[in-house]
Amino acid sequence: MATRPGWALVAHGGAGEITRGRLSPAQDAAYRAAMSLAAEAGAGVLRAGGSAMDAVEAAIQVLEDDPLFNAGRGAAFTAEGRNELDASIMDGATLRAGAVAGLVTTRHPISAARAVIDGSAHVMLGGEGADAFARSQGLEQVDPVYFFTERRWRALEKGLAKLGLPVPARPTGAPDDVSGKAALVHEEGKHGTVGVVALDAHGNVAAGTSTGGSSTKRWGRVGDSPIIGAGTYASNRGCAVSCTGAGEYFIRLGVAHEINALVQHKGLSLQAAADHVIQDELTALGGDGGVICVAPDGQMAWSFNTTGMYRARIAEGEPLVVGVYKDEA
Ligand code: ASP
Repeated sequence: MATRPGWALVAHGGAGEITRGRLSPAQDAAYRAAMSLAAEAGAGVLRAGGSAMDAVEAAIQVLEDDPLFNAGRGAAFTAEGRNELDASIMDGATLRAGAVAGLVTTRHPISAARAVIDGSAHVMLGGEGADAFARSQGLEQVDPVYFFTERRWRALEKGLAKLGLPVPARPTGAPDDVSGKAALVHEEGKHGTVGVVALDAHGNVAAGTSTGGSSTKRWGRVGDSPIIGAGTYASNRGCAVSCTGAGEYFIRLGVAHEINALVQHKGLSLQAAADHVIQDELTALGGDGGVICVAPDGQMAWSFNTTGMYRARIAEGEPLVVGVYKDEA
């Protein structure tokens, strides 16, 4: 890249078994449109001179509201048939960070994570206390059935059958939305988290991640997405990173911080750092998934060891690029 763009943004909508053979043309188009919409929402903030934190939150809210993704509405179910939502966000300028785990009534988990930064003395809140905190901060609360989608419920039934576990009672009031947009959900394996990283015109980076976690997870299970250093990390001295994939592996490798460390301390290019951690370290450990990254000098990168990852990137003076399968730019 010749000159540093004034701003840049990269988004993901999850990695997994995503191939041309598995997605119908309608699904392919729906996912691309959704990724474009989210990237444009974040880019709009950056174009207007807004902060990377605001851009990350705005773009993730769009993805959380979209039933196609395993975050907010459309989240994966626990083995007990509930949606337990995790999210985190980090400001690379100050290293301030906020995270929430196990939300069940907060519409936008990413906003709850952000509220933790300014509204509490903590970095991470979990369970009932996290929803109560979000409520106290004036964040929109919903009936848990708001997060329900038929496709994810069917994925749960399939997952439980494989494990020989009983199917819990269908939540009361659950919509039977087999038509409409939710019908286009592609069950990409266990993943489908969303994340956004951004560089703003002031030179600050930020990262955020939001998820329903892995399908058929145990009640109370927490993955990498809300863990600062594992699923999310941002530092102006290194880079901003958001992950998606088999959370247990990402936690063990501290993937997001590991990529930042390679950039910050070893001077690796963003792409080389991301590729090393995903293609070498994660793969060697037996984990699968992917990352998106942006650096204060405008470098953007993504890397994944699955067959696909929903992704988009856009920067000042550069066109929006959207990708789904491995062989795309
Ligand atoms: N990383 C998420 C988790 O383990 C899952 C995903 O990316 O889809 O909770």
